[in-house]
Amino acid sequence: MQVIVKNEMLFKGVVFYLESDLPSEAKFLLEDFRLAVNNAVRAGLQARVTSRNALVKIAYKDFRREHPRMYSQHLVSAFEVAGGILKNYRKRIRKGVTGRIPFVKRLMMKAENQAYKLDRKSGVIDLPIRAGCHVDLRLIVSQYHRKYLDDMALSLGSLTILPNRVIVAFRKNAPKPFVPETVLSLDTNERSLDGVFIEGDVAKAIKAEFPDIAIIQQRHHDRRKRLQKEKAHDRRTSRNLCRREGAREHHRIDYRLHQVANSVLRFAEERKSAIVLENLKGMRPRMSKELNRRLSMWPRRKLHQIIEYKAQWRGIPVFKVDPRNSSRTCPTCGRIQDSRMGAEFACECGWHLDRHINASINLLQTAVSKGMAGGLRFNPGAFQHDVMMILYEPAMAARSEPNGTSSIFEVT
Ligand SMILES: [Zn+2]
Repeated sequence: MQVIVKNEMLFKGVVFYLESDLPSEAKFLLEDFRLAVNNAVRAGLQARVTSRNALVKIAYKDFRREHPRMYSQHLVSAFEVAGGILKNYRKRIRKGVTGRIPFVKRLMMKAENQAYKLDRKSGVIDLPIRAGCHVDLRLIVSQYHRKYLDDMALSLGSLTILPNRVIVAFRKNAPKPFVPETVLSLDTNERSLDGVFIEGDVAKAIKAEFPDIAIIQQRHHDRRKRLQKEKAHDRRTSRNLCRREGAREHHRIDYRLHQVANSVLRFAEERKSAIVLENLKGMRPRMSKELNRRLSMWPRRKLHQIIEYKAQWRGIPVFKVDPRNSSRTCPTCGRIQDSRMGAEFACECGWHLDRHINASINLLQTAVSKGMAGGLRFNPGAFQHDVMMILYEPAMAARSEPNGTSSIFEVT
């Protein structure tokens, strides 16, 4: 049992485009910053340290000499970024992935919140470059952006600057979750979320389908295989092409997962639902290698991560329960079936239901037995077998929502 209620600081990165090109002073600053990050990474590797403070200790003086005019807060921020890159690098090495020396190729810089000023009314950023030199960055502000700029419960975090856009981190303390009036219990599968929605005495089946995620994974897998074969004589090219394929696949799946999560959260917010999910930690599909890859768990884990984080941001309670036997148990008589079944769960007692929806009812029962979800419970007699609510389906590809904190630091 894991209740996701922590009083922690939450962050949301919001992308803004600029009214005009970056001023040349800012472009030079980006180049300097990148250089500083890469130098700090090299120094950190040599000295075998990864923390920002350790990096500052070993390298600050040399840096000051090499970048005498850079605003010192930006320099410290470069150490911070380098520290993050070094930590990732070390993690990869520990996992046994042979790592090339990390190196930032893209132009970027990060400024901590004391190192810039944003006028939230006008949408103008005052960015210090060096002593006596500041530049203004005029943001393009839409209604979407206003929501964040005008919400004074949100404070400003770091600013990330890229050649054609900036990302402002907004932050707040996790709000206290609301007291649920209904429950949405969801079983997470390769191609769909399947569940049950309980409101008063009524229980309805509910579904969010995303069959294309598995299809995208499959297609990209095939393409990668082909690339590797075609370019077998040139490992470097093959590796680069594969990496680009991987990034594109990742981006497309990520986008779809966010859409699915948003539909779940919109539903839960409107109906004051608690969300029940299974705890996916440690779960692995017991299949052959080929199936294992196709049924890889990461999209499901990622979907849960997104749902949990966004729910926390909006104050929607989420309960995670142990999924053991959830696909084999009869929710009315409690019998546990021995074998896996087909699309339908059927029990000797006469109960029968779609296998996945049945599993979601068991998840709900577990949540209820652990005292979660308040006094809300499932009554098998209340289940409306002929009703299916559709939360999401691919045809609902909703309007795009800016979302782009991922892959800022392209490290090769
Ligand atoms: Zn039964």
